[in-house]
Amino acid sequence: MSRLKITILFVTRVPSNSRIVMLLGQLERMNGEAMVRDVETARQVTTKILHLIQTQEKSGKEVMSKGSSGMEVILASLEVSSQTTLEFLCISIVTDLLKRAFLFVSKGGTGILFQILTSASKELPPSEELMLQLHSLLAKVGPKDRKFGVKARLSGALNVTISLIKQNLQNAKLLLPCLQVLRVYSANSVNAISLGKNGVVELMFKIIAPYSKKNTSLLKVALDALGALLKSKTNARRAVDGSHVPALLALYLDWHRNDARHRHMLIRKGLLVCLRNITNIKLGRKAFIEADGMRILYNTSTECLPVRTLDPLINTSSLIMRKCFPKNRLPVPTIKSAFHYQLPHVLPVGPVAQLYSQPPGVDDVVDDSDDNEETEAETDTDNEEDEKNDDIETDLNKLHPTKSPGRPFEELRVYERFFLELSEDFQVRSLSSSSSSARSTRPIIVPTAQALSPKHMATPASQEIWNSIKGQHTQPPASATSRTPGSPVSATRHIQSPLLLGDIATRRVGGGGSDCGSEGAEDEGGEGAVLEVPDTALLLPLHDPDLYVEMVKGTRSVPQYAEVAYPDYFGHVAPTFKEPHLERVYGVQRSKIFQDIERLIHPNDILDKVVYDLDIPSGESLKFNSQFESGNLRKAIQVRKYEYDLVLNSDINSNHYHQWFYLEVSGMRVGTTYRFNIINCEKSNSQFNYGMQVLMYSVQEAISGRPRWVRTGTDICYYKNHFARSSIAAGGQKGKSYFTLTFSTTFSHKDDVCYFAYHYPYTYSTLKMHLAKLEALRTPHIYLRQDVLCETLGGNICPLLTITAMPESNSNDHICQFRNRPLIFLSARVHPGETNASWVMKGTLEFLMGTSPLAASLREAYIFKIVPMLNPDGVINGNHRCSLSGEDLNRQWQNPNPELHPTIYHTKSLLQYLAHIQRAPLVFCDYHGHSRKKNVFMYGCSVKETVWQSNISATSSDLHEDLGYRTLPKILSQIAPAFSMASCSFVVERSKEATARVVVWREIGVQRSYTMESTLCGCDQGKYKGLQIGTRELEEMGAQFCVALLRLKRLTGLRNHQHLLDLESDIIGTQSKVVSPTTYVMEEDEPSFLEAIDYSAESDNEDAEPENEHGNNVHENPDHLDQLSDSCNQT
Ligand SMILES: [Zn+2]
Repeated sequence: MSRLKITILFVTRVPSNSRIVMLLGQLERMNGEAMVRDVETARQVTTKILHLIQTQEKSGKEVMSKGSSGMEVILASLEVSSQTTLEFLCISIVTDLLKRAFLFVSKGGTGILFQILTSASKELPPSEELMLQLHSLLAKVGPKDRKFGVKARLSGALNVTISLIKQNLQNAKLLLPCLQVLRVYSANSVNAISLGKNGVVELMFKIIAPYSKKNTSLLKVALDALGALLKSKTNARRAVDGSHVPALLALYLDWHRNDARHRHMLIRKGLLVCLRNITNIKLGRKAFIEADGMRILYNTSTECLPVRTLDPLINTSSLIMRKCFPKNRLPVPTIKSAFHYQLPHVLPVGPVAQLYSQPPGVDDVVDDSDDNEETEAETDTDNEEDEKNDDIETDLNKLHPTKSPGRPFEELRVYERFFLELSEDFQVRSLSSSSSSARSTRPIIVPTAQALSPKHMATPASQEIWNSIKGQHTQPPASATSRTPGSPVSATRHIQSPLLLGDIATRRVGGGGSDCGSEGAEDEGGEGAVLEVPDTALLLPLHDPDLYVEMVKGTRSVPQYAEVAYPDYFGHVAPTFKEPHLERVYGVQRSKIFQDIERLIHPNDILDKVVYDLDIPSGESLKFNSQFESGNLRKAIQVRKYEYDLVLNSDINSNHYHQWFYLEVSGMRVGTTYRFNIINCEKSNSQFNYGMQVLMYSVQEAISGRPRWVRTGTDICYYKNHFARSSIAAGGQKGKSYFTLTFSTTFSHKDDVCYFAYHYPYTYSTLKMHLAKLEALRTPHIYLRQDVLCETLGGNICPLLTITAMPESNSNDHICQFRNRPLIFLSARVHPGETNASWVMKGTLEFLMGTSPLAASLREAYIFKIVPMLNPDGVINGNHRCSLSGEDLNRQWQNPNPELHPTIYHTKSLLQYLAHIQRAPLVFCDYHGHSRKKNVFMYGCSVKETVWQSNISATSSDLHEDLGYRTLPKILSQIAPAFSMASCSFVVERSKEATARVVVWREIGVQRSYTMESTLCGCDQGKYKGLQIGTRELEEMGAQFCVALLRLKRLTGLRNHQHLLDLESDIIGTQSKVVSPTTYVMEEDEPSFLEAIDYSAESDNEDAEPENEHGNNVHENPDHLDQLSDSCNQT
């Protein structure tokens, strides 16, 4: 029987001559044959040891002390002996020492106990006393031993315990420790299945029912064991088949009613856990609904609400109810976008072809989390899970930037026309005369794929250079024809909606002193309603309402919008007050969820009245509108008197990507609180759970001189709801639930027209207006050229800007310096919903065109090539993520299609051209917005940091990498208050291999290739800590980016600008040898807070359930596909 060889000389180990040490020494010497022969002596020694341990605390400590092998000696004698008495004594000793259970486990104690248990069970009848002792001991050891379940099964102990339970149902004294052990057994999924086969589920139901307050500790343990068993689908089905769901509900109700002082909360919780696990299967949910479970749990929870300590019951009930709430499809005819754009051609394998080949009824949601496919783990689940991120690129070949030749140079040569500054010799004209050259404009030829043939290419004559330098915007605003000097401010406060594009009559008010703003109008509009326009010319140098309208007229949208949104018309002046993160009210999510559940329980209270519908025009109640540029709202449904469900429209040619919203509301009552629910959000979490508010714009406020977006809304939270889409509609993934963003607000003006938006809107027409206005900032020292890179699918132009300084003179040296300036390539707004990127870009552009010495130096240092809006069509049509082709343009950089992705195709070609002529940019940066993180930060590309994160073995050559990619973010973290180095990552991910950042790094060979992500929410560090971000901070970020480039110039050792170096104070730590890799965080990195954010009310997601009530389960575990589609804002 002996397997454990005790070779340690106990006495020599511990230099002590205490009594217990001597006794242990004696026992150790007896181990083996001697003990079997001289049982009586062994027994005496053990008794003495036990006595000492029980009477002297010191002795116990000595046995357990570090370096002592007391535990080994005792275990060895346990194992060697077959004498019941002796075992009993040893067990008693061990029990007393078990405060150090991990030591016992690590020395193999569990296995020995199971061995004794199985051999003792063969004696007939087994000694009850011994069984009691053994089970008590196992119950204590079990939770400390991660392999307990496996060891129990392999030793045959499961059956011993089961038969003991069966034979001792009335013997509480023995039953309790047996159930305690069973509870540990059941935590192992393989054990749970095998115990279920042996009738243990039925057995547990016998123990827990009927309601009785006798022996509650036994009941509690039985419920725990049952709860663990029911995690197995087979067992859950057994429970349903045995009609135990109504029984459990009745029992729960009994406890709820009789436990008036809430002393048995754990029993009530145990019952709910059983229900929670049973309802993981479809049959279980069905049985729950049939047994009126929704009403029972809703009513009991409502009664528990006043008692804070009962929160765990409410939370678990809420989870069960949400899981069982029948899944509905969204209340729209199809989840495909309400608008359709006919593509020039549809790739047979592309997403659009797939979308339109879906069968009718594809959106119908069935409860498709099937429980028939019994794929229960036949492997043990108590292994530690390796959390590996398999998105990290591990292919070293792909990690090595290998410049790809791309298109042949013959093809790329046509892009020369966009780089006139690289060949201009400035000899034709003197610099002074050129700056006053004529304002004539010539159409710029659009190099789409078809137009790129040489015959269409204009010769880059110097005339054209100057024409294009002067820009295209020359025409005066059409509506500014019949202006008369300003008249006194009228008292009119009437606002009409919609603001139609056709006839907008304006009257400027306020803001004296600005001569360009003192125009009034009494023109042909005719209706008598004259719009008062706040004069913001001084505050908003780049804004002009009339010019905006002109720009809108040239913008082509798929729905052919004829309206203008007031906020875009009036402009936005950033408020001067602080806008802190909204503090979350305790229990807000729960109360919102309960209100949602009430819809099912009290359906008659629900109005269910469609008040706005893109598919069917109609309307009453609050009036909604979204039919203007960048607008997004598909449908509004009034559910209660002051509560509306809002459905967002999918991106065009797609059936999802809803997140961006921009909508108009009117017809409101003053002082009433309205609740709005956006019910088809898709991401699994949102900054709306962490202090972010929505934006609101009041036209009455604007007319009163405060044209601005302000953060608005209370009771904001974001949670999984009962709407879902089918798995086919979801593209083969599992059917996915939608999420609700809910917020409440009151309106403070009568007859107001208000707008809500996801973030500060920035339309394409706004961009065109800003670009036209930038022309006005040009001085003779600034070289600004605006080209049309190409035309988009929707027929809009994609602007390309070149900004640098004019050469100091036309001397050869100066011309040479001019041409050889390094290039900086910037782009933004490939994702339409990330409007913050446009505000950052606006800050960059304004800074670059500014008059500060820094700006002048910057222009002298670099040539800037900027594509400020990579996805105009998406922006115009209110998309969140895609272009008209229904695709994410930032996943097309590897192989862009010239027809379907023209802006990407031609932007990449520009970069390929530069690579060909050995002028690849020093920095490439694509501006984005991030919806799930705070602060502003960058993603870059580093072989080294990717290798570090992935544990792949790499040769040392891979680890020699210039740390230059870190310089720019490092500088930014020092000068830009919103920027956080800690949030940056330089890991190359597989899912990002077709993004601008990775392709420009890998194929063009730009080491400093970045995505710059700006938060939609706010900051949790630096000067803006605790505040929500506004346009001022975003624009500042764009300006600081420029300043950082100037510092980079110095640090990269390029010549020139010595006079500016004094402005730079601190040294950037790029020379340091070891840089710790930044943390690589795929998901949002928010801390948890009191109310568990619980998105897991789905049967396929039980692992994400809160196991404790303190709710540190903010992190969901979406599957990989989820991550891909959820990573929307990450690049
Ligand atoms: Zn993005």
